Amino acid sequence: MNWKKQYQKALTFSYDDGNVQDKKLLDILNRYGMKCTFNVNTGLDFDHGTWVYRDVLEVHRLNLAECPELYAGHEMAVHGVYHYNLTELSPAELTAELQENAETITKLYGTAPVGMAYPYGVYNDTVIAELNRLGIRYARGVESSHSFAEQADLMRFQPTCHHDDPQLFDLAKQFLESEPETPQIFYVWGHSYEFEGQQNWDRLERFCEMLAGRDDIFYGTNREVLLPDEEPKTK
Ligand SMILES: [Zn+2]
Repeated sequence: MNWKKQYQKALTFSYDDGNVQDKKLLDILNRYGMKCTFNVNTGLDFDHGTWVYRDVLEVHRLNLAECPELYAGHEMAVHGVYHYNLTELSPAELTAELQENAETITKLYGTAPVGMAYPYGVYNDTVIAELNRLGIRYARGVESSHSFAEQADLMRFQPTCHHDDPQLFDLAKQFLESEPETPQIFYVWGHSYEFEGQQNWDRLERFCEMLAGRDDIFYGTNREVLLPDEEPKTK
């Protein structure tokens, strides 16, 4: 269903890296009926890619092969096999990093990915050409737009804001009170380990509580919101 036929506002979430804290994130999002896109690295797992966030939290990835049920109802998207900086790879390495990632996601989750988030937020024309070749239709950076306006270039899509943005709740209020005549998209991104590391899960609870259950807001994954006419391709 194309949400724009029925709504003028859509809310979507985008969370990166497939970390252990996605479990708690999903508990909260599911409780409020929110939909999220998870950008995951299929070459990393609980024992590979571990690092320490701001000296307070050991960050582990999930074993993605065990997670189809966990992520059910949400969207899985490309983030590279190993989270490499895509602009530093040779053409062959770039293909391997993206194509294998897309293929593994398709195999594990049953739907060919159409979206991605750029590791470290970096990209160039070569990266975008490769993504186009692989059937990726939208890709997200990390620069806050602080806007709900639709964006023309979905391969250089920028989020409304990160969940730690000081303007998050002002934007939420503005979004709730607006009566737009053109489609508006509130797009929030982040990493689930940040809530744990900063002990601010209440921020997500408060945000969801404010925005949930509105009959004038469509709650969809990135794909549903950004590509409203696209039907998912199952394997
Ligand atoms: Zn990442």
